[in-house]
Amino acid sequence: TLTLSQRVSRVKPSPTLAVTARAAEMRAAGRDVIGLGAGEPDFDTPDHIKEAAIAAIRAGATRYTAVDGTPELKQAVIDKFQRENGLDYAPDQILVSCGGKQSFFNLAQALLNTGDEVIIPSPYWVSYPDMVLLADGNPVIVDAGIEQGFKVLPEQLEAAITPRTRLVVINSPSNPTGMAYDRAELEALGEVLRRHPQVLIATDDMYEHIRWADEPFVNIVNACPDLYERTIVLNGVSKAYAMTGWRIGYAGGPAPLIQAMKKIQSQSTSNPAAVSQAAACAALNGDQACIATMRKAFKQRHDYLVAALDALPGVQCLPGHGTFYAFPDMQGLIDARSDVHTDIELAEKLIEEVNVALVPGSAFGAPGYMRLSFATSLETLQEAIRRISQFLE
Ligand code: PLP
Repeated sequence: TLTLSQRVSRVKPSPTLAVTARAAEMRAAGRDVIGLGAGEPDFDTPDHIKEAAIAAIRAGATRYTAVDGTPELKQAVIDKFQRENGLDYAPDQILVSCGGKQSFFNLAQALLNTGDEVIIPSPYWVSYPDMVLLADGNPVIVDAGIEQGFKVLPEQLEAAITPRTRLVVINSPSNPTGMAYDRAELEALGEVLRRHPQVLIATDDMYEHIRWADEPFVNIVNACPDLYERTIVLNGVSKAYAMTGWRIGYAGGPAPLIQAMKKIQSQSTSNPAAVSQAAACAALNGDQACIATMRKAFKQRHDYLVAALDALPGVQCLPGHGTFYAFPDMQGLIDARSDVHTDIELAEKLIEEVNVALVPGSAFGAPGYMRLSFATSLETLQEAIRRISQFLE
């Protein structure tokens, strides 16, 4: 028998990708499955971005580039941080990677020693704890349920910090809850972090542009500029520009940390695909109208889905500030039934009995909840609600 590393046995495959794959399989087998598992926009990459990529191929963007990204794309990222976030970075403070996922992977690999603790508020993006485990770190989960608007409180953060804490992860707007921290809430968290100078902060701003509020986006560095030296800002083009398949994410932060992450990347993937970098450059430098078009559609679907879920018996669903996910509390519904005991069993029943695929909250560290992606048409969402209601009858 083949013996594998202890490292690989510590982690599990992405549960969200698994649900999407299962729905696709059932569909291929002829079943009319509605998949609400996917974590990607249903829109196509805008034409001007595709055209720029095609032109780049013709112009010879077919070779290795610098490990940390082409000078053009790094400049586009620097300009983006300056223009949209009011943050200044020099080129050695920027690393372009193969998706936001690799940015965080590099960070964990570059920062953590065995047993180092990383504070991750739950519900969390499924990959944070596993990527920390792959780096021999220790994920410290802090529960932030629906009763506190899915946001970690300053006193919870204070209580979770130990001398082993190396990193705190903030993801706002959040996958899976859709909640975003406001300036005052970030200031209060910053107040705590100021007392613990050994702790770095990762702000994952991947959903910055899928957000409904009129006020400008704020992250922890905007709220607490004195934390600039201790914060790494993670972002990417995947969600904002419907570019999940191109695999481009980027990070801005302290030069020594970024250079260490670059070293990890240089011995794993090297540069992200040259063509994708050209596309990302066009996305960041080009017309931003595509973002508003997609945001409008997401908001309309959000409004429908949240209200429809919240109206179901035993279900509570808060309106989100952004993203394309609804994260209803379905514990009441689970408690009211004798045929299901957990969110995992409920998800199983929904796919088996009414052909609706969604992701159980347990995957995000929040049992009793469900994540529904509304990166699909309004008609599909209406049909999904009809089927869930039918299951409840
Ligand atoms: N961060 C969050 C919160 C996400 O939800 C995702 C994708 O699901 C990512 C980062 C990574 O995105 P990608 O690797 O596709 O750029």
